[in-house]
Formats: sequence, structure tokens, C-alpha cells
Amino acid sequence: MHPPDADVVVVRHGEVGVKSEQVRRRMEDRLAENLAAMFDARGLAGDVERRRNRLFVHTDRPADVTDAVTDTFGVVSASAAVTVDPTLDAICDALRAATEARYDGGTFAVDARRAGPSDAHPFASTDIESEGGAAVWDAVESLGETPEVDLDDPDFRLYVECRPDTAYVFLTKQSGPGGMPLGTQRPVVALVSGGIDSPVAAWKAMRRGCPVIPVYVDLGDYGGPDHRARARATVETLAEYAPGRPMAMHVVDAGDVVTDLAASLTDLRMLALRRFMLATAEAVAEEEGAVGVVTGEAIGQKSSQTSANVAVTDVATDLPVHRPNLTADKAEITNLARDVGTFEDSTVDTGCNRVAPELPETNASLAAVREAEPDDLFERARECARTRTVEAIES
Ligand code: ATP
Ligand code: MG
Repeated sequence: MHPPDADVVVVRHGEVGVKSEQVRRRMEDRLAENLAAMFDARGLAGDVERRRNRLFVHTDRPADVTDAVTDTFGVVSASAAVTVDPTLDAICDALRAATEARYDGGTFAVDARRAGPSDAHPFASTDIESEGGAAVWDAVESLGETPEVDLDDPDFRLYVECRPDTAYVFLTKQSGPGGMPLGTQRPVVALVSGGIDSPVAAWKAMRRGCPVIPVYVDLGDYGGPDHRARARATVETLAEYAPGRPMAMHVVDAGDVVTDLAASLTDLRMLALRRFMLATAEAVAEEEGAVGVVTGEAIGQKSSQTSANVAVTDVATDLPVHRPNLTADKAEITNLARDVGTFEDSTVDTGCNRVAPELPETNASLAAVREAEPDDLFERARECARTRTVEAIES
């Protein structure tokens, strides 16, 4: 909900603000670029203005721009606001107009902040709240309702942010994903299976500023075209969060390797496969200049993800393996998948065969896995990575 005549979207970022001046400037520049790319992708016009600790987007489509802004990494919250002169009269007029247009019954409160030098305005924020509150009171009465103030939990809250040269009046703070602007970290490879967990893990790494290079390992008879299409659909959704950055899905054909592992290993099969996948991810990372690997694993969620088994798979690569879901429960990951927009695709039935054995080892030793897995497993991983196909993703 925004005030009538809203002409600007106030953008708040979080951790960027605590960086040194130089780093902050670089991160704010990146955020401004990412916002512009997001507007382009959604056919929106918006001029991004940078000011201390805030960005402002001037637009004639405040609601759509607020939605786009709050889908952009690094944004903590955003508000569609009306710009007014930084005087009590102008602020009270805007509060009155917003109330007349948007008040829908119940209690109200005015929440005012002032920014800038202490002598920038001849009034304090408490003056804005008391005079603004009186203006809203009158407006509620003029609507034929009985005004009532509730400062703690009002039904209708009006915000004022007063800066030296401009004041902003708005009615909501819409939450964004938080994190850091995409592109402020070096890229990582994300092992994406298309299941519920791995796209969420990739999204979380993106939220912390890392561009991701998705790698899908095609399991041959144990995967199939529907399985691959499912992975691709989740990557297409991820690409929507990275406008202006061409994304591609790297497909590693592991059909023969999986068939061999299924024939030669039983209880340690999944661990050898996981190690193979990490080795392919490392090879792709080397070629693509990525500095880590992201997986969707969470402690104990599956036999290959017990705390003991993760120790065995982790050492298959010299790169750091990032597991953003590590301590999350399945329900939390599922909820986030719904919010991110990958859940529907992740739960399409692909009817693929099960690679996992009936009784997988849950407490493997590295020595036992090394002994059991084929000697040329990592060589084959590098070869499969080298001959991978790269599918461009439209965003
Ligand atoms: P997901 O929902 O992400 O598939 P999961 O709990 O089913 O996760 P596993 O199947 O045990 O987990 O796989 C663990 C991790 O290994 C996945 O989160 C993903 O990062 C990676 N992975 C599994 N299968 C593939 C695949 N075919 N291609 C690429 N990565 C994969
Ligand atoms: Mg899976």
C-alpha cells in the first residue's frame, strides 16, 4: 500500500552500511546497477539516486518498482513514498492526504525519523509525530470515524523520513531478501539437482553476493530428460534473481559412471557418487574462475549427509564446499523454496530410477570409501567436466 501520488521508492540496505566508505560506495554502485537491470528485465522505468545509506528510485510505477526492488539481493526493505518539502506544513498535508485515501478503520500511529545535522530542521522528530498525529486525527474524523492512537501496534501506520532537503511519507516497509548485492563476491559453482534443497542453497549463496554457475550431473538411466528439465526449470527461476548476468546450466554427462558405480558398489555407492560430483564441480570451477562449490546438503537429511559421511565427501575437492542449508530443517528449506519460487518445479515427479541402495552406510570411513571406489573416479570426473554441455538460460 502506498500514499497517493507516490513518486519514489526508498530502498534500505543492511550490512552494506557498516562497510568502510570505499567498500560501501562500491557495494552501493553494484546495488544500483542490479536494480537498474531488474527494472529492465521487468519493463519498468526507474531512475536510481544514491544518497547516504539509502537509494531512491524515482518512478511513476511505485508498486511494481517496490516489488522489483524487494526481489533484489542486498535490499532489506523498501517503501513507496511521496516526496514533500521538509516542512511541518507539507508533511502534515501529505499525512492527511494519505489518510483520506488509504485509511480503512482502526487505530493509527505516526512514526517519524529525522536524518542529517541536528540544526537541519527547526523541529524535532517528536514534533512531526505530534503535529502529524493531529493532522491524521482530523483526517480520520473527516472520514466520519472515531480516531484512536495505538503507538505499539496500530492498524494504520504512517511513516515520515525527514532529510535536510526532502521529506518522504509512506505507509509500509516491504521486506526484501537482505544479504549483499549480487556480484560483490567471486562466483561459486552450485551443484543443482532440481530437488527442493539444492536450488534453495544456490539462492542463498546468491543472496550473499555470489554469482552461481549451476552444474547439473546427468545420471543417465537413473535421471532422464524429465529430471534434467526439472533442474533446468529451477535454474531458470534462479536466473530471474540475476538480471543482466547471463546464466548457463552446465550439464555433465555421468550416465556411464553411475551405471558402473551401481554395478560395483552397494552401501558406499552414494558416497562415491557424491565425491565424483564434487570433483566435476571443482573441474568446472577451475575453468570458470569460481572459488567454491555449493551443495544443498543438510546434516543428517540423507545417509550421504550424516556428519560422518560429509567428512568423507568434503575432501574430494580442495575447494571449500559451502552448504548454506547445513543446519536447516527440511520444513524451513521447503518454505523458502516456496518463497523463492522453485518449489513447484522441484516437486514435479520425474519417475527416475533410484541410485541409492537399500542399506546405505551412514558412518563411513574415508579409507573404506577410497578402497571401494574406482581408482580412476576423479580422472573420469575431470573428463566428464571437460566434455560437458552448456545450456544458456533466458532470464
Ligand atoms: P536436493 O533436493 O537438492 O536434490 P537432496 O536432499 O535430495 O537434495 P541428495 O540427492 O543427497 O540431496 O544430494 C545432495 C546434494 O548433491 C544436492 O543438494 C545437490 O547439491 C547435489 N546433487 C545431487 N544430485 C545432483 C545432480 N544430479 N546434479 C547436480 N548436483 C546434484
Ligand atoms: Mg536430490
